Amino acid sequence: MTKHGNRAGIGMTSARTRERLVQRLRDQRITNPVVLDQIRNVPRHLFVDEALATRAYEDTALPIGYGQTISQPYVVARMTEALLEGTIPGKVLEIGTGCGYQTAVLAPLVRFVYSIERINALLDRARNRFKELGIRNVHLRHGDGFLGWPAHGPYDAILMAAAPLAIPQVLFDQLAPGGKLIAPVGPEGKQQLMRITKRGEELQKETLGLVSFVPLLQGLG
Ligand code: SAH
Repeated sequence: MTKHGNRAGIGMTSARTRERLVQRLRDQRITNPVVLDQIRNVPRHLFVDEALATRAYEDTALPIGYGQTISQPYVVARMTEALLEGTIPGKVLEIGTGCGYQTAVLAPLVRFVYSIERINALLDRARNRFKELGIRNVHLRHGDGFLGWPAHGPYDAILMAAAPLAIPQVLFDQLAPGGKLIAPVGPEGKQQLMRITKRGEELQKETLGLVSFVPLLQGLG
């Protein structure tokens, strides 16, 4: 037992509550069964404060401290689905680990996740959760996502959990040929979720809908 009750969850974190969330995402046209399975299986209530655990399977962003939020399940599912479409990426760079929920959904579906977070306290907590959940293919770094993580590149995919006004060129440089970058882009209140695929010298851009993310901030927190 953890301080949040067991992993399977009780009451508002039970299997039935999680199934309602999965159905809600299906209704919003999330179709990839492995993504829906991850939403069902990852214990989101362990990624938020105990006081918010009863709301963990609502389809909303919730505060995780330091002015940051755990991403909304629909958005996590949509980004993961967009990333897995076509070929399954081997190495993924994630920018904005936060509480680690998106990371935990993604990690079992790819070979490696390299995840960067600028707020060290959030990173420490995420690291403990991955240990507790037996997630071992995630490498974490306290750093500034504006710089990417060149040492492990190029990446088959890059996923951004915070919104820049424009995507930094260095991130495209760290993307492998055929690689995909998925990111919210734009000022608060007007962000578009973009999927950009690197085809030779060309960048093929697709818009996936309006979203609401915290801004990508410069430097360390
Ligand atoms: N997917 C995460 C979302 C966290 S919110 C989750 O489910 O919890 C976005 C995160 O991006 C925040 O934790 C914020 O600190 C981080 N962030 C913002 N700018 C950053 C930057 N330049 N480099 C690294 N992380 C950044």
